[in-house]
Amino acid sequence: MAVESLEWDVQIPKKLIEEKYWINLKRRVIESGLCSHCSTCSLICPVDGIVSGDHEIDFPDWGERCIDCSACIRVCPRWDYTPLSGIGEYLEIVAGRSKRFKGQDGAMVTEFMASALEMGLIDRTLFVGRDEDWRTSVYHIRSVEQMLDTKLTGTKYSFASVLPEIKKAMRSTKKGIGLIGTPCMVSGVRKLQKEFPVFRRKIKVVAGLFCTENFYHHQLYEFLKDKGVDFSKLIKTDITRGKFIATMTDSEISFPVKELNSIVPHGCEVCIDFTAIESDFSVGSVGSDAGYSTVIVRNETAREILEYIKENNYADFGKVIMEVVEKLSNLKMKRTKNIPEEYRKNIKNF
Ligand SMILES: Cc1cc2nc3c(=O)[nH]c(=O)nc-3n(C[C@H](O)[C@H](O)[C@H](O)COP(=O)(O)OP(=O)(O)OC[C@H]3O[C@@H](n4cnc5c(N)ncnc54)[C@H](O)[C@@H]3O)c2cc1C
Repeated sequence: MAVESLEWDVQIPKKLIEEKYWINLKRRVIESGLCSHCSTCSLICPVDGIVSGDHEIDFPDWGERCIDCSACIRVCPRWDYTPLSGIGEYLEIVAGRSKRFKGQDGAMVTEFMASALEMGLIDRTLFVGRDEDWRTSVYHIRSVEQMLDTKLTGTKYSFASVLPEIKKAMRSTKKGIGLIGTPCMVSGVRKLQKEFPVFRRKIKVVAGLFCTENFYHHQLYEFLKDKGVDFSKLIKTDITRGKFIATMTDSEISFPVKELNSIVPHGCEVCIDFTAIESDFSVGSVGSDAGYSTVIVRNETAREILEYIKENNYADFGKVIMEVVEKLSNLKMKRTKNIPEEYRKNIKNF
């Protein structure tokens, strides 16, 4: 008789050192500089002890509170790191510009999530907003009208604790949750869904953002202040054609993005996934005309949403120059040299 795999089958990971799992994670992932700050460990910790804020992931009082359950290691995409790269599998690629929303580029992330809400695929989605100093905070969005707030759309080049908020969203969702994240966050979500099936049922739509790197807010804030950025007037930040551009209500400050090299976190320096290849659909600015977003539609759920957008005439469409997306994706591959030897063998075609 065939033995069915039970939903509660658990593979307990092997410890590398005779210490609590948290200490194993801390030594192998955080202290070694591999941690991407995706915050999946913080979400799953059953005692809510792992904190992810504007600093390295930590569990301050682990000695008293950690119950050594191994969940943090089970969901960490960098514990047994298999670096992903390239464009990944897809059904189609389009350039799009929403007619309803204003966003970083063509507001197609917002358009897809709004449409998923209207279609009833999800009943909430998590967006990253900002305060006047551009510190990130996470918002639970339940209506299309909320997405008209331009502080909630657009790119914030700072880590955001989106994943820990899933726990709250899980308590109240009926139809499912929509998530948006950088490539490492998407990988965290997929590992979470693999290890804990309840998240497979509840997280229904996952958007990935193209990403070269992210920053700690306090470091980027100080850097930009030194450059003369007035945060009370700042309306947009962008990285385009090798330049960081801060647009204020009355002026603009720009400088070569490589000037930020000294504050790029280690966890980003070992990442070679530019397009978030594990997402349902990925969105970025490169490859499309200004004002449009490049959208990589990877599966049937994303294609259904795209069809819905087209049927309702919610967006204009244009052409994507694939060579540009490939070029940026290949550029990130240069970071392969930063990946520790033991994980390099996990890179496909390396
Ligand atoms: C850190 C970072 C680096 C990026 N680097 C590149 C790059 O090198 N090349 C490129 O082509 N594109 C990059 N992007 C993606 C690009 O900036 C746009 O987000 C993308 O083109 C989608 O634009 P849009 O107008 O369709 O999105 P919008 O409709 O404006 O929606 C953007 C969504 O992203 C969410 N969001 C904003 N900041 C964050 C954050 N820090 N973490 C998680 N979610 C967030 C918002 O809440 C919103 O839901 C990056 C994005 C981020 C966050």
